[in-house]
Amino acid sequence: MALTPFSVVTEPTPSLRERSRELRVDEVTTPEFQAYLDRLIVTMFEKDGVGIASPQVGQNIRAIVVNMPQGAECFINPEILKKSEQLVDSEEGCLSVPGKYGIVKRHKKVTIRAMNRHGRTMEFEAKQFTAIIFQHEIDHLDGVLFIDKARDIHTTGGKHI
Ligand SMILES: [Zn+2]
Repeated sequence: MALTPFSVVTEPTPSLRERSRELRVDEVTTPEFQAYLDRLIVTMFEKDGVGIASPQVGQNIRAIVVNMPQGAECFINPEILKKSEQLVDSEEGCLSVPGKYGIVKRHKKVTIRAMNRHGRTMEFEAKQFTAIIFQHEIDHLDGVLFIDKARDIHTTGGKHI
């Protein structure tokens, strides 16, 4: 049976502005939570996003999906351990902020620590566009939207992160 995508909540929904809570390994490994993650992936692809964070589907938990070069992957409790000094201008949009795009300064490289969907903790470096997606999604988990940081807000362009 095909999984039904979630509906995406949009600004100004108050829950988008909350800090999401950490998940425990035993919560992540349940069949119900695995099905939730699959629906989150389906939602990202259906809405043509390159990443999605749980608060965008109304769940204030620290679980995100990032469309990596090798395909969509889920990350639980992601944290940025290290940021490059070098910044890049990133043109961004967001599924939760329809019709707005803007330029955000992001770190070019970030070192991430997160659990994978099987509850195993990993550390790795993300670069270029993948690094930008992580920074955008982790902001969502802290109640921050790209429009809080963006300049030159416009109405067309950008990728939905
Ligand atoms: Zn977003």
